[in-house]
Amino acid sequence: MTPQRKLGPFRQSVQWITTLVLLLIPFVTVGGESLLRLDAPSRTLLFFGAAIRIEELYLFLLATLILVFIFLFVTMVFGRIWCGWLCPQTTLSDLAGFILKKTASLLPGKLFPLVVAHLLFALLAFLVGANLIWYFIPPAEFFERLLNGNLGLVAGITFWSTAAFVYLDLAFVRRLFCSTLCPYGRIQLMAMDRNTLTLAFNPARTSDCIRCGACVRTCPTGIDIRDGLQVECINCGRCLDACRAIMQKQGKTGLIHYSFGITEQGGGRPLNSKSLTLGALVLVLCSLLAAGVALRKEASLKVRRADMIQVKHLADGSLVNFFTITIENRSRKPAVYDLVIDGSSKAGLELLGPVTGLHLAANDNRRIDLLVKASSLPPKQAMIQLQLMQGERIVAAEPLSILD
Ligand code: SF4
Ligand code: SF4
Repeated sequence: MTPQRKLGPFRQSVQWITTLVLLLIPFVTVGGESLLRLDAPSRTLLFFGAAIRIEELYLFLLATLILVFIFLFVTMVFGRIWCGWLCPQTTLSDLAGFILKKTASLLPGKLFPLVVAHLLFALLAFLVGANLIWYFIPPAEFFERLLNGNLGLVAGITFWSTAAFVYLDLAFVRRLFCSTLCPYGRIQLMAMDRNTLTLAFNPARTSDCIRCGACVRTCPTGIDIRDGLQVECINCGRCLDACRAIMQKQGKTGLIHYSFGITEQGGGRPLNSKSLTLGALVLVLCSLLAAGVALRKEASLKVRRADMIQVKHLADGSLVNFFTITIENRSRKPAVYDLVIDGSSKAGLELLGPVTGLHLAANDNRRIDLLVKASSLPPKQAMIQLQLMQGERIVAAEPLSILD
């Protein structure tokens, strides 16, 4: 009989790859900007080449909805695969176990290996804390600010508290978190159905089990898979590998396996109406997000009547009204703008204030106070259109009432 493949090495490769991706993404740039980073000072999400400002809330909302529906879809189809194969907590727990084992086997005495292990835990905790901050502050700037002691209050508290929590987790909590604290595991159980991929002991082959206990001994959460689906099971597949190795010696296949539910119990159909509807919803939302990002304006213009200042009627029969204008350059290049009144309505009207040659850096915004002067009373048109020009191009426009 050909030996059944072990899943352990494959699972470890997946863990390594996802960990490296998470660590390296902050170092990747597109056009000089981070590939993925939330820039708090400019309230902008740098997202794969697009700079999405927090004001563009509909895009944030779409992205959040996509994440929620992806979570529901993946959980409904693949169950708790996330926990055993992708979750950073599992990867950290595996690393902590590996460090403890290696230091104990390679170093002399009892205390020395433990001290070295805890130093390595501290180093790992520092790296995890820093990795989190890199999604808000670019790595080079982070290290410079850390060395100069000016990381800032929020970033400093977030970094040091994350590092402290991760150290305590590595040193004392590890797997206990999955079986006792993690809310995600409980939520996952609610999203699963009879077609969901689960790891189970095959009840039809109970008589083949030689009760060697290898599956229980290898289980990181200390459960017995033969007792059925349990909240503590993180679907890591270690019991599957252990049982395959034992059964191999008996000339049989393993008794534990992944399956999309049991066909006799109405399962076995991962692609059913529910999962297909969820998948289609994710695709529609992704298309909407892609279209929203592609069609978003490169600049925006907001007009607000100046607070507490009334329309002024001047002795020469003209009137002036006061406005606060906010211009936003949403593009990734610096730009120079002019503010003008729409050609069809500008007769007898004048903009007073800094309205030409407005320089804005990429992804920057600027507030301007200006006056609109109407030389005749009543003006020919109370409603006019204010336009933001970049050269000859209108890049944004807003209506404005002269009399209000
Ligand atoms: S029962 Fe198996 S899959 Fe579940 S946690 Fe234990 S070893 Fe991992
Ligand atoms: S490893 Fe397999 S044979 Fe051994 S106790 Fe577990 S299920 Fe039974």
